[in-house]
Formats: sequence, structure tokens, C-alpha cells
Amino acid sequence: MSARARVPFVDLHPGDDAAAVARAITRVVASGWYVLGPEVEQFEAEFAAACHAPFAIGVASGTDAIALALRALDIGPGDEVIVPAMTAAYTAFAVIAAGARPVIVDVEAATLTIDPDACADAITARTRAIVPVHLYGQPADMTRIRQLAQRHALAIVEDCCQAHLATADGRPVGTDADAAAFSFYPTKNLGALGDGGAVITSRAPLVDRIRRLRNGGQTARYQHLEAAGHSRLDELQAAVLRARLPFVAGWTARRRELAALYRRELPPSVQPIEERDPGHVYHLFPVRVAERDALQSHLAAAGVETLIHYPVPLTEQPAFAAYEPFHCPAAAEASRTLLSLPLYPRLADANAAAVAHEVGAFRKGSQPA
Ligand SMILES: *Cc1c(COP(=O)(O)O)cnc(C)c1O
Repeated sequence: MSARARVPFVDLHPGDDAAAVARAITRVVASGWYVLGPEVEQFEAEFAAACHAPFAIGVASGTDAIALALRALDIGPGDEVIVPAMTAAYTAFAVIAAGARPVIVDVEAATLTIDPDACADAITARTRAIVPVHLYGQPADMTRIRQLAQRHALAIVEDCCQAHLATADGRPVGTDADAAAFSFYPTKNLGALGDGGAVITSRAPLVDRIRRLRNGGQTARYQHLEAAGHSRLDELQAAVLRARLPFVAGWTARRRELAALYRRELPPSVQPIEERDPGHVYHLFPVRVAERDALQSHLAAAGVETLIHYPVPLTEQPAFAAYEPFHCPAAAEASRTLLSLPLYPRLADANAAAVAHEVGAFRKGSQPA
């Protein structure tokens, strides 16, 4: 009955971008210059333009992008920073890396993005910033978060690690915040061939500070104004990202097509996460389903790889035990019912349809219960 198509969760092989990526690598190898050079400078200019932001600064990872943005805003020991319970743990690790205390709050049940009411309840005299996460590629409710931040004089550092070129209410993500962080980890919507990240901002003073913080705290060679490590996007990764950047708009359109296909073809027994904003860029396509583990096993047996984003909310991670108490029932419930289906630009319509068909075949009698 089933197609038994082998559908991997993701396929990172270069496709339409392969020749451009190969040329970029050859160019950097031949240049004899590998750290903080012309490729990073040009990528920063091109990425800023693509994001509609005045400035971009390349760094070593998305985690560092959040941490350095917070440090550049003078947020550190004694300060509290609000983060959502349903996200990659790195969002909160970045707060800890900056020296501040992560305050973990619940997400909205429908979109799983940070709940503005929960943010409001969590604000104390020590709160300095909110880090909303545009989870799965869908913008958080930035209108309400901006209102809250303005009322309480809080900074906003947007975690755009899953949301390259997304828009919130028609405005490019990250451009209304103090700063925004991107990751170029290979699986992201714009991925390098290794780790990488960037901060975008419209605040010129933050640019010099982040450039310093990524490079030993130096104002000039061997002049260390403040303590800092290394967090640099290297020339090779910057060149690969420059080669890929022109493809991202097309890849995003393809992600949206596949999401629409899933919404049409999936049975009512599974519920996709609500699309509240058409600026969603579908980094992931999770569904909610009661018998999640059984469905995941059924799909695995049919050759369909799935993952869970995320199986353990931050509130249940031992790494954050020191930051209790928590009250995040929506994140806890979601962690038990979420299942991410394969969705990436190279996924063929026929394979996405086969995945939807297999989901429909689950517990229909065509499979042993
Ligand atoms: C990937 C990711 C990060 C971390 O980015 P790295 O480049 O892996 O450090 C942070 N937040 C979210 C939401 C992510 O998806």
C-alpha cells in the first residue's frame, strides 16, 4: 500500500547553488587570506541589504550573535533577560554567556512563539531585555512585544536563527529591534558549510562594540580594551554564504509551496501549527498529534525521517534548574505532541505527498496497530 519512499528529514547537498559554492571556495583558497577579510566585509554588506538593515556583523554562531548583542547593550551580571520555554536551548545559553539570568516564560498555545502576557508577568526591576524567537520561521507577536518593551524601557534582541528573510506584519524581522541574531548552521534557511552567525542592527554604536567583542576586545591590533574571545565568521564560510544568499528568496518560496501542500494533503488527525503571519519562512513544519511517538515510529518504518522540535522544553532541562521557578504549561504540552515533518527546498512534491499519505495511513487499518 505505502510508497515506502525514503524521505530524509533534510538534504544538505548543494543543488542549484553548487557551482556558485564551488567557485566561492576556490576563490578564498587562492586568496591566501582566511579570517576577517574582504569576503566577510562584503557578506556583511550584502546580508544587511537582504535584511533591510543598516548594519550586519558576522560572528561565529547564532548563539554568539545573541550573546554579543546582549553584551554590546551592556546587559550582563545582575540583569534578567526574558526568553521563551519552547526554543533551541542556545537562546537561553546565550543569555547565560552574556552573564545575565534567563527568565523562561511560556509560549502561545497556537503558534508556540513567546506569549506577550507571560512576558508582562515576568518583568521585574532587574529585567533589561526580551529575546523573542521566531520559532520554526514564524514571527513572534512583535507588535505587542514592542509595546511592552517601550513601556518598561527594555531592549529587544530578536532570535532570527530560524527566520532568514521572514517578515512580521510586512516588516523584515529584526529591523525594529535593538539587534537581531541569525545562525548559518548548515540546516538553517541560509546555511554555511560549518558554523556561522550574524547580528543585524540599526544602532551604529553597537556595530563597533560587536566588532570588538568578536575579536579579542581589540580596538586596534594588540590593543585590548575589554576582555573577549574569538567569535569570527571565517572567509570561507562568508564566501559560501555570499554564493547562497541570492538563492534564499527562491528557496523560501519553495518552502512555502511545500507547507501549503502539507496543509492541503494532511489528514485532520494531525494539526499543523497555525500560520498567523504570511511572512512565515517555514524553517520547520511541525504538526501536533496525540499519538506522537506511535506516528513517528510508523513513519520511520515507512522510510520517512522526522524529528521533534523540541522534545524537552527549557523548563525541564537540567541545565536551567538554577533558574526556577517556571510556569510554562503550553510549552510542556507541546513538547509531548509535536512532530516535525521533512520540509526543505529540495524535497519533491511527490515525496511530500507521500509523507502526507503515510500520515493518513497511520491507524487506518492498512498498518498493524
Ligand atoms: C540554531 C538556533 C540557535 C543557535 O544557533 P547556532 O548557530 O547553532 O549557535 C539559536 N536559536 C534558535 C531558535 C536556533 O534555531
